[in-house]
Amino acid sequence: MTKCDKNAILIFKNYKALGCFFGYTGYNGIEVPLTTQLSEKMARQLLIAGNWKMNLTLASSLELAEGLKKAASGISNVDIAVCPPSVYVQPVAAVLKGSNIGVGAQNAYYEIEGAYTGEVSAGMLKDIGCQYVILGHSERRNIMGESSEQVNLKLRLALAAGLIPIVCVGELLKERKANKTVEVVCRQFDGSFSSISAEDMKKCIIAYEPVWAIGTGEVATPEQAEEAHVEIRKMITKNYSKEVAEAVRIQYGGSVNDKNAKEILAKPNVDGALVGGASLKVEQFMGIIKSA
Ligand code: PEP
Repeated sequence: MTKCDKNAILIFKNYKALGCFFGYTGYNGIEVPLTTQLSEKMARQLLIAGNWKMNLTLASSLELAEGLKKAASGISNVDIAVCPPSVYVQPVAAVLKGSNIGVGAQNAYYEIEGAYTGEVSAGMLKDIGCQYVILGHSERRNIMGESSEQVNLKLRLALAAGLIPIVCVGELLKERKANKTVEVVCRQFDGSFSSISAEDMKKCIIAYEPVWAIGTGEVATPEQAEEAHVEIRKMITKNYSKEVAEAVRIQYGGSVNDKNAKEILAKPNVDGALVGGASLKVEQFMGIIKSA
């Protein structure tokens, strides 16, 4: 167990023992009033991003992009992005050009160029109009066996290419049941952000996505989401500074829909949502955006 793990578990236990979920949360032992947390949150514009995963066709991607462009026009209080499959990034970006909806990719490789058959680089994604890139999604970590060390290499190249990385962390159900949420997220955080400068850290977005809530319909409660986000913000404070921690946006992801979004997004440390299934329908995705 690393020092970070031990400290995080200790803080988590004290935090729970004090019953501080409502009203106060601590940064390095200092209690922060809820009003302060909410005003800090106001400085962070919420980001609602849709992860289309390996879904849709070219025609239905364009239709969805057109529908969102029309429905979201005029919305400026929230940042919006969609992340189509990489082959549809360019045509979707062309449809959304000049709109208030950004485009992201779902992955990028950890080399700049060369003999890496089937892979796509961060530079190539930037080249075709990408602004964001999701890195370390749990489906990549758990199905493709991607490690935090690989996520870290990808992150460096994404930042170098000028992409905004959305780095995913989150625990499996058995890890939550074994009270290992903080330990697992802390390990993923340490590995994924190893040697990333404070300046670059501020450019990153973190998505807390408990694996048991992804695509299952079993959403984390707003309190569970807030609790994990507070822990992640503490990790940023500990590794960087309070200033950096306050600047980084932390999204929640896992079965967010137009019915449950409002309560989750209202939490002081939840700065948006990464949405899978519900991002594939204009009405549902717009419902989430309008809840923000
Ligand atoms: C995701 O893919 O990141 C996700 C959160 O999926 P869903 O909203 O379908 O649970």
